[in-house]
Amino acid sequence: MQFVSVIGAGTMGNGIAHVFAQSGFKVTLVDVSAAQLEKAIGTITKNLDRQLQKGTIDETIKLATLNNITTATTIEAGVATAQLVVEAATENTALKLKIFEQLDAAAPTTAILATNTSSISITKIAAATKRPTQVIGMHFMNPVPVMKLVEIINGYATTKTVTDTIVTLSKQLGKIPCVVNDYPGFIANRILMPMINEAICSLYEGVATVEGIDTVMKLGMAHPMGPLQLADFIGLDVCLSILNVLHTGFGNPKYAACPLLVNMVTAGKLGAKSGEGFYVYTPGNKALVVSSQFM
Ligand code: NAD
Repeated sequence: MQFVSVIGAGTMGNGIAHVFAQSGFKVTLVDVSAAQLEKAIGTITKNLDRQLQKGTIDETIKLATLNNITTATTIEAGVATAQLVVEAATENTALKLKIFEQLDAAAPTTAILATNTSSISITKIAAATKRPTQVIGMHFMNPVPVMKLVEIINGYATTKTVTDTIVTLSKQLGKIPCVVNDYPGFIANRILMPMINEAICSLYEGVATVEGIDTVMKLGMAHPMGPLQLADFIGLDVCLSILNVLHTGFGNPKYAACPLLVNMVTAGKLGAKSGEGFYVYTPGNKALVVSSQFM
């Protein structure tokens, strides 16, 4: 396999393009927004420079990686020669179904269509295509160049050959693949999101402060960051939408999102990307500062 297209050049798409390109694949990065594509190339360059400074890559690898990436603003132009497409567009079911219909029409019939969705059913996405046996979940973790795991999700119809291809490919990228089946939240978010929700409920009920909750989980459980900081990093809107998928998918009230999380998303406090969540984020300041809402 040589030609890979990545759909969506946001947080995840730029990282996915980066790791494929650094492993020698020819990548076409597609986004509806030309500005987002420009920003993504800037982010990839910055991240390559960081690797260069750390000595994990040399200048030749940096240039080869950037040379392996081209961009496009339409799916039709971006996937015509793709052998694999990895979709990493906004987490919205209607949007992903539309994108997969378009991919099915525009990509070669032999191409594997993968999605980086955090929570939407792979089986549902596959049903929007005429090739459900070639549709699979390829769930990278954020930040993609750093995190080793790829959660590979078999849809109802995904063939073993397709799964085996994606497992081998993930190893080629230097990642560690883990294959799971298609049920709400898969494994990563089915276990992570109830923990984050419980942390938010603990804050909502006044059991402890933001710092208290994160310190207990960091020091007590050896987590690299506390659940509230992690929620800010993931995006509170993303956390809410995944909890809603778990709640609807299992029909179990234990997955109901904490009212505080719902309020924060409604108020536009989405975490790091909006500048404020449980903590406040100011460019150039790496110190963790608790939002005045929770003082
Ligand atoms: P993001 O909002 O940063 O980026 C989404 C990008 O998709 C935007 O640049 C947008 O312009 C683009 N887009 C929207 N519609 C498009 C279309 N029709 N064609 C092409 N591009 C389109 O989102 P993200 O955080 O990178 O998430 C992308 C996917 O990855 C989602 O499915 C999300 O659930 C999943 N994911 C996110 C994380 C995370 O930590 N952010 C982790 C794992 C998986």
